[in-house]
Amino acid sequence: MTDLAGKTALVTGGSRGIGRAISLELAARGAAVFVNYRQSAKAADIVVAEITGAGGTAAAVQADVQSADDVTALFKQITSEAGTLDILVNNAGMTRDNVIMMMKPEDFDQVLATNLRSCWLCCKSAARIMMRKRTGAIINITSVVGIAGNGGQTNYAASKAGIIGLTKSLAKELAVRGVRVNAVAPGFVETDMTADLSDELKGAAIDAIPLGRMGAPDDIAKAVAFLASTDASYITGQTLVVDGGMVM
Ligand code: NAP
Repeated sequence: MTDLAGKTALVTGGSRGIGRAISLELAARGAAVFVNYRQSAKAADIVVAEITGAGGTAAAVQADVQSADDVTALFKQITSEAGTLDILVNNAGMTRDNVIMMMKPEDFDQVLATNLRSCWLCCKSAARIMMRKRTGAIINITSVVGIAGNGGQTNYAASKAGIIGLTKSLAKELAVRGVRVNAVAPGFVETDMTADLSDELKGAAIDAIPLGRMGAPDDIAKAVAFLASTDASYITGQTLVVDGGMVM
């Protein structure tokens, strides 16, 4: 499929896990992809090599997306190298789980900055480009935890619920300029983020998934590519849940 041919995309946290799968999927559909990373330079280079080796176009771009200065520099680099941006995927994220009595204010601030502030900063920079072009697609990666909540994740759930509110508000702001803003809410996906969970916890989570398995990063990437494509041209402000039926 080459439905994204001629498009330029940025995937934050695009070097590992779900972001890696999204970078590969967008590139396989013809988009030129900027693969953002914060510290995993080697992993980002591998993703870029995989894309270019298959005949696609990609570049690795370093930025800590919770930093306003880094995001400004990142978008400066993208506009100078590609001249434009058509697709933004806000995927960078982290967890720092604990029950509220044990959670430090720094754990709350760090997770909100990494997951929510980063999303707002990148949306703002992308909106400047896309509003001028009167077209564009922004896809924000939230989580079913932002919808249903989860004990031990008050910080993470707040950040992910915030992304859903941000998505709807920005969709309302930008619709008149032809820019669509949607969110994808993964359920329980096999990546480094979930690798450290105990077998007991994983087993219990899988028992709660009607489709009977953890999600693969590719499951999420396909949903993102759909929302980025013209097949979704009448969809904005939505949260597409991709969780094997876990939350319904
Ligand atoms: P992961 O394997 O831990 O990867 C996280 C990615 O985010 C890495 O590429 C990391 O890059 C990047 N990142 C973190 N902080 C960053 C920062 N400040 N600036 C730039 N990049 C940063 O996580 P994942 O499971 O793929 O999760 C991806 C997204 O899906 C996250 O938003 C997560 O909340 C969401 N999600 C995941 C699941 C799941 O079950 N896995 C479920 C629901 C939602 P570096 O390595 O370079 O730091």
